Amino acid sequence: MNLLEVENLVKHFPVAKGWFGRGKQTVYAVNGVSFSVAKGETLGVVGESGSGKSTMGRSVLRLIEPTSGRVRLEGVDVTSLNGENLRKARKHMQMIFQDPYASLNPRLTIGNILEEPLKYHGVEKKNDRREQAERLLREVGLDDSYYDRFPFQFSGGQRQRVGIARALALNPKLIIADEPVSALDVSIQAQVLNLFVKLQETRNLTYVFISHDLSVVKHLCNRIAVMYLGEIVEMAECEELFRHPLHPYTQALIRAIPVVDPAQRRQRLILTGDIPSQTSPPAGCPFHTRCPQCMDICKKEHPALLTQSGHQTSCHLYGKH
Ligand code: ADP
Ligand code: MG
Repeated sequence: MNLLEVENLVKHFPVAKGWFGRGKQTVYAVNGVSFSVAKGETLGVVGESGSGKSTMGRSVLRLIEPTSGRVRLEGVDVTSLNGENLRKARKHMQMIFQDPYASLNPRLTIGNILEEPLKYHGVEKKNDRREQAERLLREVGLDDSYYDRFPFQFSGGQRQRVGIARALALNPKLIIADEPVSALDVSIQAQVLNLFVKLQETRNLTYVFISHDLSVVKHLCNRIAVMYLGEIVEMAECEELFRHPLHPYTQALIRAIPVVDPAQRRQRLILTGDIPSQTSPPAGCPFHTRCPQCMDICKKEHPALLTQSGHQTSCHLYGKH
């Protein structure tokens, strides 16, 4: 059964135009994204910076209000909940952020940081909260003596472990991790990724794992969704995506992964041009302005998302004409 179902999610930000705020324009950050995630599965979401990954993640959890669309968690329509019901549903869905330093209150001890959500959700006895906080610290590979320390006393990797412990405090079903290792040294990244894998096994967690770096999601995800300008342009099983990338954008992203062994160095197809402005996205296929295989139709018609043996892509190269 699917734990999470996202249907046609849209998030547009109205913003002021120009220096003096006269006139309005719209940032088309997420433009009709649909996907589902099975219980215990990890869905990777990749794409360049600015493609709408964070906005999508935040809208799913309703940390920001989606403009339209549906999000269902275990069949419950989260988008229509409010008040107490939304608070209860939020327990089941947690987010882990890129920069744990910015997301951990510097004035609180680690113990307080971990106990805050427990208190808010009704664990009343101080001793119970402390016991749970110490158990969480051990679970993420930290010493429970860290309980009385402050975030600044930790390294980046340790702080991200605290961020993970806090997300686990309410025993969530779904975790959306937004670039959780991107700020860490490469040597530390693998350790934190291993922790994600271990926690998924022991807690049967479901992850949506957001990263601009394909090599990070490669070993972690069951399926991968590739986002470009607020849309999913390709989605497939992880191995299938790396072996048979269909969309020229995905192909470029894969070729751009650095290869360590020089003998194996692929011909790198570097994407030219910047990602277009999201206040005036291109007509037709959103990728056509940078696509090495752009055809006439791509400038005019938006390609439909086609599915073949579970592999989805929206590209006119695979349309029927
Ligand atoms: P990603 O996480 O893939 O880098 P984001 O979701 O952060 O992409 O951003 C997608 C687009 O939405 C960007 O153009 C960004 O500038 C814009 N955006 C994000 N948040 C806001 C906001 N609060 N107000 C206006 N525009 C925003
Ligand atoms: Mg982001």
